[in-house]
Amino acid sequence: YHRDKDLGHHFGMDVGGTLGKLVYLEKDAVELGEVHEYLIENDKYGKSAQRDANMMLQVPGGHIHFLRFETTKLEQVVEFVLHRCFHRDIRTMPCTGGGAFKFSKLFEDHLGINLQKCDELSCLIQGLSFVMRHVPDECYTFKNVSMNHQGMGQATKTIIHTPASELYPFLLVNIGSGVSILKVSSETEYTRVSGTSLGGGTYLGLCKLLSKYKSFDEAMDASIVGDSNTVDMTVGDIYGGGYSQFKLSADTLASSFGKMGTKYEPKVGVRDEDVARSLLIMITTNIGQVAYLSALRSNTQRIYFCGNFLRQNEIASRQLAYAIDYWSKSKMEAQFFHHEGFFGALGALLAHNP
Ligand code: ADP
Repeated sequence: YHRDKDLGHHFGMDVGGTLGKLVYLEKDAVELGEVHEYLIENDKYGKSAQRDANMMLQVPGGHIHFLRFETTKLEQVVEFVLHRCFHRDIRTMPCTGGGAFKFSKLFEDHLGINLQKCDELSCLIQGLSFVMRHVPDECYTFKNVSMNHQGMGQATKTIIHTPASELYPFLLVNIGSGVSILKVSSETEYTRVSGTSLGGGTYLGLCKLLSKYKSFDEAMDASIVGDSNTVDMTVGDIYGGGYSQFKLSADTLASSFGKMGTKYEPKVGVRDEDVARSLLIMITTNIGQVAYLSALRSNTQRIYFCGNFLRQNEIASRQLAYAIDYWSKSKMEAQFFHHEGFFGALGALLAHNP
């Protein structure tokens, strides 16, 4: 085949345990025909996939578009591409995440597309470096974090620009289905310092198991209105007030879901919203703790959080900002990204478009 005819290098894919992420590079001078029109004219593709239009990036010579789908729907996505003949001019496609391995035969057999496997952590850091260098308002934090442990309270969302010379080293906490924690010393030097299996997949899994919510977005909406105090045990529940010797206020979380263990009929008086909220606080608190300890151990002051668990999840990001500020006595700072879930896919795209 003719290299110019292979349009696969316009894409970068990241197929994780829960979500597949696809970025599409629209080049001003290149005609992608039907595929392009279909991708750009819609932002929902059947029931299986969607585009985050507000994430589109303008880059020299084109635009980058951001799409996602559930990994369990990948087979439907492949069938759909086949049906519409969208794969016609695509021979190879850079892909990262476990799916690059797990689904390579599916792509080869059904679409004749060869998935070019790219390392997940390397792609993550390449994608992240790219947005830090080229996207002005990408990073933000929450200033004046005066909150309680449940992430309630006032804090102003503030855009942050860190000069390239002050960037490294930093800690990167990627909250996907599970959590990976990396110390990044330069664009090419990084080590995986820690991780935890209690991640976004745990939150979503337990939500589905313990409440009526069927999707992440539903669970997130419910979490916003839920009250975790009907489920959790606080210092106040145990002491009847604060624990003054250690300056623990009465509302300090002592035991996630603890109240449920002391009730004869735990479900009475507890709403699904409360369960969703409590799960969110439980998972986030634990990640904040592991992140803080990892930052201490690896001597980093800045902690970047990414991954789709933080997608439209201001409760978690505010709580993480608070936790890092609190535990470090304001010596460390948590930061977040507008394109939080797409760095792996971006990195895969960049690997073939340096
Ligand atoms: P992975 O690569 O492991 O799939 P992601 O960074 O894509 O990881 O994050 C997956 C997590 O993001 C899920 O476990 C869930 O907590 C959260 N999430 C955010 N939006 C969605 C969604 N639309 N569907 C499912 N999970 C979502």
